[in-house]
Amino acid sequence: MILWRGIIEEFRKFLPVSEQTPVISLSEGNTPLIRADRLAKKICPQVELYLKVEGANPTGSFKDRGMTLAVSKAMEKQVRAIMCASTGNTSAAAAAYGAKAGLPVYVLVPAGKIALGKLAQAMVHGAIVFQIEGNFDQALRIVRELCAEDEYELVNSLNPFRLEGQKTAAMEVCDQLGTAPTFHFLPVGNAGNISAYWKGYREYHTAGQIHYLPKMMGFQAEGSAPIVHGHVIENPQTVATAIRIGNPASWKLALQAVDESSGKIAIVTDEEILSAYRALAAEEGVFCEPASAASVAGVTKCSQAGLLPEGATVVCTLTGHGLKDPDIAVETSTRPRTVKATREDVLALLRA
Ligand SMILES: *Cc1c(COP(=O)(O)O)cnc(C)c1O
Repeated sequence: MILWRGIIEEFRKFLPVSEQTPVISLSEGNTPLIRADRLAKKICPQVELYLKVEGANPTGSFKDRGMTLAVSKAMEKQVRAIMCASTGNTSAAAAAYGAKAGLPVYVLVPAGKIALGKLAQAMVHGAIVFQIEGNFDQALRIVRELCAEDEYELVNSLNPFRLEGQKTAAMEVCDQLGTAPTFHFLPVGNAGNISAYWKGYREYHTAGQIHYLPKMMGFQAEGSAPIVHGHVIENPQTVATAIRIGNPASWKLALQAVDESSGKIAIVTDEEILSAYRALAAEEGVFCEPASAASVAGVTKCSQAGLLPEGATVVCTLTGHGLKDPDIAVETSTRPRTVKATREDVLALLRA
C-alpha cells in the first residue's frame, strides 16, 4: 500500500519548505475529481464536466491545503499561537491543524453568520472562539492589527503560505485529467483560492507538466460581489455564508488571474446558487455547501450565454462539504413525514 502523505510531501518541490520545516499534516489533498454526466446533460451537454470535491479534505474544505503549510511554517518560526478571522471554514481548519501542532488557536467569527458545522468544528478542536458583533471584513481588520502588534501568527489567506498550499489543487486536477481543463470554475469570496489555482496552473505549465492554461472563471454571490461592481460592499448579503465578503483580501491577484487567463469574474444569484446546490445533490450524489455551488451556477450561466464551446473540459471546484451547513439542507429539502409504527401505515403512505 502506498499512503498519500499530504500535500506538503506530495508537492514538496513546488512549495517553500526545507528539511527543517516540521510538517503538520492531516493527509489533506488527493480529493476526488468526479465526472458529472447527469448534471452536464441538464446544464451544459456540449462539454465534459468534472467536479473537484474539496469537501473530501480532512476538515471538509479546501482550506486544509493552505492550513497545513501555514501551520507548518508557523511551527518552523516557533510562534506562540495562531489567529484568524473566518466565515467558518478557515477557523475549522485552523482549529484542527492547530490541535495537531499543539498550538493555541484564536478565531474571530461574525456572530450568527457562521454555519453550525463549522462552529462545532472550531469548538471541538479547542479553539478559542470570539463571535464579534459585525461582519467578516471587520473581524479581519481586527485580527490583522492584533497580529501586527503581537506574537500571534495570522493564518488568513493574507498569509502567503495559505495560497502556496492551495495551489496544489490545480496541480492535482492536471494529474487527474492528464492535462489542464479548458475552463476552471470557482466561487469567489476573499478571492484567495482562484488566485492560488492560477498560480498552480502557471507553475505546472512552467514545469512542463501541462501545455496550455485554463481560463479562470470566478463567481460571486449577487449581494456580495465587490469585484464585479468594482467597489467595497459595506454590508454583504448571501445565503452562501462562505463567500459573504465585501472587501476581498486577494482582489488584485484575482483580477490578474482572470485577465491573464482570458477568464472572468461574474455574478450568480442566491436562487441560482441554491438551484445548483440541489442539482448537485440530486443528480450527482454530491453534497456540497451553498458557496461551493456558485461554481456550478456559473457554468449554467456561461453555458446559456454560449460561452462554453463544444468539447471543452470544464472543472468546477466544490469548495466545502454540505454537512457544514445542515440548516440550509433541511430548510431547502422536502420534510420527512411522520407515521405510526405499523407496516400498514407505512404502506399507505408509500401508495399515497
Ligand atoms: C473560503 C471558501 C470559499 C471562498 O474562497 P476564497 O479563497 O475566499 O475566495 C468558498 N467556498 C468555501 C466553502 C470556502 O470555505
